[in-house]
Amino acid sequence: MIEIDINNKKDCCGCTACSSVCPKNCITMTEDNEGFLYPSVNAENCIDCGMCEKVCPIKREIPSDSFQESFVARIDDDEVLMNSSSGGAFTALSRFAIDSGFTVYGGAYNKCFDVVHESAKTNEEAKKFLGSKYVQSFLGDTFRQIKSQLNKGEKVLFSGTPCQCAGLISYLGKPYDNLITVDFVCHAVPSPKVWSVYRDYLNKKYKSKIKDVNFRSKVYGYHCSSIKIDMENGKSQKLGLNTDMFLKSFFFNVSCRPSCYECHFKTVDRVCDITVFDCWNITRFVPDKKDDDRGYSAVIVHSKKGAAFFEKASSCLEVHKADLDTLIKYDGKYAVKSIDYTEKREEYFRLINEGLPIDEVTKRVIPIKTKNKLMGKTKGFLHATGLMKLAQKLK
Ligand SMILES: Cc1cc2nc3c(=O)[nH]c(=O)nc-3n(C[C@H](O)[C@H](O)[C@H](O)COP(=O)(O)OP(=O)(O)OC[C@H]3O[C@@H](n4cnc5c(N)ncnc54)[C@H](O)[C@@H]3O)c2cc1C
Ligand code: SF4
Ligand code: SF4
Ligand code: SF4
Repeated sequence: MIEIDINNKKDCCGCTACSSVCPKNCITMTEDNEGFLYPSVNAENCIDCGMCEKVCPIKREIPSDSFQESFVARIDDDEVLMNSSSGGAFTALSRFAIDSGFTVYGGAYNKCFDVVHESAKTNEEAKKFLGSKYVQSFLGDTFRQIKSQLNKGEKVLFSGTPCQCAGLISYLGKPYDNLITVDFVCHAVPSPKVWSVYRDYLNKKYKSKIKDVNFRSKVYGYHCSSIKIDMENGKSQKLGLNTDMFLKSFFFNVSCRPSCYECHFKTVDRVCDITVFDCWNITRFVPDKKDDDRGYSAVIVHSKKGAAFFEKASSCLEVHKADLDTLIKYDGKYAVKSIDYTEKREEYFRLINEGLPIDEVTKRVIPIKTKNKLMGKTKGFLHATGLMKLAQKLK
């Protein structure tokens, strides 16, 4: 039997290429006890065609273009900039795409604040993609929808994690001139189950439903970005990576997908057309620029098709050429390096699965220090008085 076989969870990033390609529809993406999806095969219907193995981006090498150009960039729209994770480069790409008749696919929230892949055909609709959502997105039948559109000659821009882009390209099986793929430098993806447990905790804590989530709010500036959660009853919380339980579980690597600890997609030579990520050091690339703490994006273009697209899309961007090695060295560490595995991960998921409240699990596994809580409480004051920059320099 040639059906897809996952012996080690690290060898599956959940991209859905196998379930999308199966001609007998006998692969279902099924949630495990950590909340991540894996293919499960109904062997009765399997015809041993081997397609699922053939398209798996972890099992096969996908050739990439040797083309590379790198930039730092910022969108010329203040409202978009302040709501984007870094410099709004993605929105510039998405706007140009939509104005040129593309359908854009990206990560958005559904009504319950699960993260799902959706499509947009207007700039108004595409606002839902603004900002990073630090949770693995649900792809559903996105790949099949895209293939059907491409085969009809429609233009598509797909944005997602490097493994989602690689999975899509592998599933499609041939290059399409009418497809642009955009990925990002990817630390890792946290568990949708932990995100759901955290949302339940917030609903109880504030006795209200969630109204909005911004994982990368610039309320205290770009360099001190925070997760801002607004509740329907008007209450709101703004916490950083050392004070918010969910962000801490992500950045301390206890809630991430197993494949992220040995990621197969950590390379500068990518199969997508364009990579966007954070530029934390704008003055290193444009020495006469003052860092106004509102964010810049770093951009790597990996193909000639991507270069032509980026050039046209950059009419609403401030763009500067940037040396690729310097960008990777200072801003793109996770473009080439996987996150470190910690044994605390097993304890974290064990306690979550035992049903212990998430604040108790956090206290036991990744406790939030009093010093950080106090620092968090003074953030508003430090930002308003301009002392935040001094505090960051001292740190
Ligand atoms: C899970 C995750 C991990 C990341 N890790 C890093 C990192 O280690 N280092 C770094 O420099 N940058 C990282 N980024 C990228 C960074 O947060 C910004 O997205 C990037 O700087 C581009 O910013 P922007 O202002 O151009 O666009 P943004 O406004 O951030 O654009 C958002 C784009 O990301 C897509 N998106 C958002 N959430 C998801 C999701 N969960 N799954 C798939 N697509 C999604 C949207 O469709 C849209 O295309 C990560 C992003 C995510 C989602
Ligand atoms: S071998 Fe073919 S039929 Fe069987 S699960 Fe894989 S893709 Fe489906
Ligand atoms: S990585 Fe993608 S194609 Fe490979 S087994 Fe997992 S879901 Fe299927
Ligand atoms: S770290 Fe690698 S495996 Fe994990 S989501 Fe990102 S690209 Fe996929």
